[in-house]
Amino acid sequence: MAQKISGGCACGAIHYECNADPVVMLNCHCRDCQRASGSAYAAVVVVPKRAVQMRGEPRYYKAVGKAGKAIERGFCPTCGSQVTVKLERLPDALGLQAGSLDDPSIHRPKMDVFTSSAQPWDHMNPNIQKHTEGLPS
Ligand SMILES: [Zn+2]
Ligand SMILES: [Zn+2]
Repeated sequence: MAQKISGGCACGAIHYECNADPVVMLNCHCRDCQRASGSAYAAVVVVPKRAVQMRGEPRYYKAVGKAGKAIERGFCPTCGSQVTVKLERLPDALGLQAGSLDDPSIHRPKMDVFTSSAQPWDHMNPNIQKHTEGLPS
């Protein structure tokens, strides 16, 4: 049985629950994720969209990534916490920002993506897959 995944933003206006296992967990080192997070990378737990129940409405900021596909980053309009990521490449999936989880320790990244943009001060786990650009197709 799938573990229940839950989380939300810092002020509590947005809360989500998911009753399915993650599809993939990854760390994205692209410049867009760096700018949006203000840090080295985005740690994202990708889950089936239909399994997610959302309370509150994230505001979405849309950007077109290097591969020409849109990414929308959802954040709380009140406290600014990033909570979700919608990927045009994966329309049936929803990314959850690992730091927004109630238990962020469940994040077990399988791969690093866009490592071509990774920063020298960003030390990556050498034991997981590396992709210089986006998700392999
Ligand atoms: Zn909030
Ligand atoms: Zn990224």
